Amino acid sequence: MKKLSLKAKCLCGNISFKTSGYHRDVQNCHCVQCLKTHGHHAAYSKVEEKDLKFLSKKSLKWFKSSKRAKRGFCSNCGASIFFKVIGTNSVCIAAGIFNNPTKLKTSIEIFTKGKSDYYKINSKLPKYARYPKG
Ligand SMILES: [Zn+2]
Repeated sequence: MKKLSLKAKCLCGNISFKTSGYHRDVQNCHCVQCLKTHGHHAAYSKVEEKDLKFLSKKSLKWFKSSKRAKRGFCSNCGASIFFKVIGTNSVCIAAGIFNNPTKLKTSIEIFTKGKSDYYKINSKLPKYARYPKG
């Protein structure tokens, strides 16, 4: 967790926002849903919803990706941007959407059990078959 003020926008710029407050370290997620929507594993930070201020969201669409979660994307350029567990007050943000430099760090690999066979996880980060304990 790191206190940051960051700016972010999708590829076409139709969706742009600022974040503040505590940002969770980035987690690489290898679950099948992330593979399908990102085209590869996902890399998500997370903030409290109140710490996310949209400058523009005219092409933001939400897709209910499971019973408990939805994913936000740009309907113009196709950028996969948000993952949200419905009913919580936080939102995961794909780390590549933030303007560089982010000062974020990647901390763990999760859902390694669900990953596809075409790549290896070469990082030395802690790996979890599903969610980390605790
Ligand atoms: Zn866009």
